[in-house]
Order: sequence, then C-alpha cells, then structure tokens
Amino acid sequence: RAKQQGRNRMETYSGTMEEVVRERLAIGSRLRLSLDSMAGFYLLYQPQLDLKSGRLIGAEALIRWTLPDIGSVPPGMFIPLAEEFGMIAPIGEWVLREACRQLKAWSDRFAGGWHLSVNLSVKQLQQPGFVAGVDRIVAESGVDPGRLCFEITETAALLNLESCAQILNELRARGIRIALDDFGTGYSSLLLLKSLPLSIVKIDRSFTHDLLASSATASIVSGIIAMSKGLGMSVIAEGIETEEQLEALGRLGCEGYQGYYESRPLPPDLFERQYLADDPPEDA
Ligand code: C2E
Ligand code: MG
Ligand code: MG
Ligand code: MG
Repeated sequence: RAKQQGRNRMETYSGTMEEVVRERLAIGSRLRLSLDSMAGFYLLYQPQLDLKSGRLIGAEALIRWTLPDIGSVPPGMFIPLAEEFGMIAPIGEWVLREACRQLKAWSDRFAGGWHLSVNLSVKQLQQPGFVAGVDRIVAESGVDPGRLCFEITETAALLNLESCAQILNELRARGIRIALDDFGTGYSSLLLLKSLPLSIVKIDRSFTHDLLASSATASIVSGIIAMSKGLGMSVIAEGIETEEQLEALGRLGCEGYQGYYESRPLPPDLFERQYLADDPPEDA
C-alpha cells in the first residue's frame, strides 16, 4: 500500500514536471512568434516618490505581455524564458525604444526633474554591441540620457563583475544613471557597491515586507541606507504597501519609495494624468 502511494506520488510529481516543461516550451514558442511585431507587449509605469516631499523622482517602466487566448503572462515568467532561449536582446531593445519614445513625448510636454527607469536583463548587458545599441536608440529618440536610469540586479552584475563594471561605466559616462535592483537578495555583495558606478540602490521588497515585524530587518535596512548614503548613492525602497511601512522607512532615513501604497504600475495615459499633467516644462 505504501509502495502504491509512493508510486502515485511519483507519477503526480513527474506529471507536474512534464506540465511545467511543456508550458515553458509553449510560452517560449509563442514568445518567438511575437518578436517580429511585438504585438501584445506594452509598458506600464510605476511612480517613484521622494519620501519627505512626495515629489515625483522617477518612474519604472515594467513590461507586460497579453495574448488573446492565454491572457497575460507575467514578466517574472517570460523574461527568464526569453533569457534562456536567446530572445532577450530584441525584447530589451523594444523596451528601451518604447521607453525612450514615451520619455521624449513626456519631456516635450511636461517638466523634467525625474528619471525613467528601464530594467536591464542579465544577458542583455553582455551582448556584443549593447552600448552602441543604446547610443543609437537614445540618438534616434532624442531623449536626454540624463533622464534615463538602468536597473540591474545583483545576480546579473555578479556573473562577470569586471566586464559589467566596464559597460556600466560607459553608460554612466553618457549621463545614464545606474540603479542596483532588489538589493539585499540573491548574491548580495558589498563589493558591488564599490565596484559599480551606482547612483541608486533599491532595497528589495522582501525587506520592506518584514520591516515592522523584525527588528533584525530594520537594522539591516538602516545599515543599507547609511552605507548607500555614505557612498553618495540615493536609496529607493521597493514594495511599500502600507502607511506604516512608509513611516518606518522615513524614520530610518530612506529617501525614495515605490509601491502599491502610492500606486500600482499605470498605463501611460493614467500616469500622465496623475503625475505629470499640472507640470508644464519651464519654457512653456
Ligand atoms: P523589479 O524590477 O524588481 O520590479 C518590481 C516588481 O514589483 C514589479 O513586478 C512591480 O509590479 C512589483 N511591485 C511594485 N510595487 C509593489 C508592491 O507594493 N507590492 C508587490 N507585491 N509588488 C510590487 P512585475 O512588473 O511583475 O515585474 C517583475 C520583474 O520582472 C521585475 O522586478 C523585473 O525584474 C522584471 N521586468 C519587468 N519589466 C522588465 C523589462 O522591461 N525588462 C526586463 N529585463 N525585466 C523586466
Ligand atoms: Mg526594477
Ligand atoms: Mg526590484
Ligand atoms: Mg525583481
């Protein structure tokens, strides 16, 4: 009987594995078919605010993919697949081009003083010709590179620290800011903080989540903030969902925040109406 149960469990388990593999392959081939037109892809924009003044300091562009038959596939699923199947370069390029187009349209009509953040993938940064591609897109769109910020994750940077540092230095030399995303998770290394030309450190939302319940977390967050400031970087906390979290971060000296408490990621027309509309450019 125990043997029987064991075998059933195995079957259930391998069945599930097979399903996962099949789903990944299916999504992967749909992804490949979508690359030509990029149909069904779009960007949402989540505001980043100054904690003291409530002023807009930035917006993070977040990709979405919706298929007519399947519905929406989260980036946490298809971005890793795109990386694995060698499709991240065209997707990343589309994201940057679309983000730059939108930023240019906004900067023609509204006041500046805030940056647009674009997430860069592990594999994307290390593609040959990546920086030249960025140059081309920036030039074609006519955006001020000083209004752009690239978010990279620690794991991405750690794969090859020296070559990453060199590429990021080239981008920084053009005025593009670099943010270290999800800091504190994965292979957190303090070496990154001194090796990379970072302007912003983003505290991972798992820390925000545990902040009120765990004094250890509060100490760590307080340390990250002090360290980042000491290195001349600004800090943005991710995943703020409650007023209590926001207040706690304020007490710890955090400067910027982002999260559902302020706003979910928004379609461009709503972002514009809620965060830009009353703010014409200086020379208007
Ligand atoms: P990320 O860059 O750390 O982005 C933050 C994620 O947290 C987003 O999920 C956002 O919607 C979510 N979020 C924001 N505020 C809150 C909150 O208060 N609570 C909770 N629970 N979540 C919050 P999303 O949009 O599903 O993106 C997931 C990840 O996918 C991103 O994490 C990023 O690593 C990747 N990603 C998204 N767009 C792109 C892209 O254009 N290119 C690349 N390479 N990666 C992307
Ligand atoms: Mg990000
Ligand atoms: Mg993040
Ligand atoms: Mg993340």
